[in-house]
Amino acid sequence: MAGNKDIQYDCVIVGAGPGGLQAAVYLGRYCRSVLVLDRGGGRTLHAKEIENFLGQPLISGRELIETGISQALRFGARIEKKTVSAVAKGPGEGVFRIETTDGAFFTGRFAIVSTGARDNLPRIKDLQKFFAKNFFTCLDCDGYRMRGKKTVILGNSESALRLALAVKQMYTNRVTVALAGYEPPPGYREALENEGIEVIFDEPEGLLGEAELEAAQFKSGRRVACHVVLSNYGYTLNDSFLAGLGLKRNPSGKYETNRHFESSMRGLYMVGPLAGNDQAVIAAGEGAEAAIDINKRLVELNMAGGL
Ligand SMILES: Cc1cc2nc3c(=O)[nH]c(=O)nc-3n(C[C@H](O)[C@H](O)[C@H](O)COP(=O)(O)OP(=O)(O)OC[C@H]3O[C@@H](n4cnc5c(N)ncnc54)[C@H](O)[C@@H]3O)c2cc1C
Repeated sequence: MAGNKDIQYDCVIVGAGPGGLQAAVYLGRYCRSVLVLDRGGGRTLHAKEIENFLGQPLISGRELIETGISQALRFGARIEKKTVSAVAKGPGEGVFRIETTDGAFFTGRFAIVSTGARDNLPRIKDLQKFFAKNFFTCLDCDGYRMRGKKTVILGNSESALRLALAVKQMYTNRVTVALAGYEPPPGYREALENEGIEVIFDEPEGLLGEAELEAAQFKSGRRVACHVVLSNYGYTLNDSFLAGLGLKRNPSGKYETNRHFESSMRGLYMVGPLAGNDQAVIAAGEGAEAAIDINKRLVELNMAGGL
């Protein structure tokens, strides 16, 4: 099936999270033709209460996305529900061809990838019941909710130990870190003991409680009473459709970009956790920066007679 093969958009944006939608709002306001392709169900939608977005004392992720979609539509962006399966680029300053799983394709002079990431979650009972309420995955997003509360940190790497020390420093004296299949390097045990952080070696099995979380259950049968669980298994980028493009990455696995969020492939921009920190507010700023840069390039290209 062919897509809108006769239309060449100024920019095709993959992903309608805060990064992609903010870029669409800017490009729409520049009167550029913009197509946003999104499969639905992104990470921001799971955030129940966002309290760090300037000017928005309290907004849910869903409300942020729904408002962003209507803002982008108001400025002329087109939004289609599609799952992108591949991105390819013509030679030189060539046009991007974006393929979707239903066999359609779309072309754009520039492309922005803002497909975010998905949490690596432990397979434990009643996770969904407490997710984003008492069970969190991100210190920057939800750490402040742990103030004074008994917190269990789940993990399998040094990162969980550092997180436990940070949570103790910032929010609460009552911290247990539960390690599954991981032995702390020398020195860490003493550091944790000195801080009064309990360390247990056990695999999580479930979350217990009715309206509120009461305890974390472990495979050995142990129960640790707690109000909050912070899971530290990281996340996986939604980027499989970029395989084969040979884009440069930094040692942490994120994509290398310049200060306008253009990747190592000219004309292809990456925003959100693909490029850096995983925060809705940061992804939105990066989307704005990418859009401003793309617009400047379009002005120059059009003055010079096009691609
Ligand atoms: C529970 C929770 C709470 C959070 N709380 C906060 C908070 O309080 N403050 C804050 O700043 N941040 C918070 N975040 C983080 C925030 O959600 C992320 O930083 C944000 O999602 C990044 O925005 P994004 O636009 O890059 O990606 P996303 O919001 O993840 O959007 C990506 C979009 O791309 C789509 N997509 C993915 N792959 C494809 C594909 N192949 N084809 C088409 N579409 C695709 C997805 O479906 C999704 O709609 C929270 C996250 C979670 C999970």
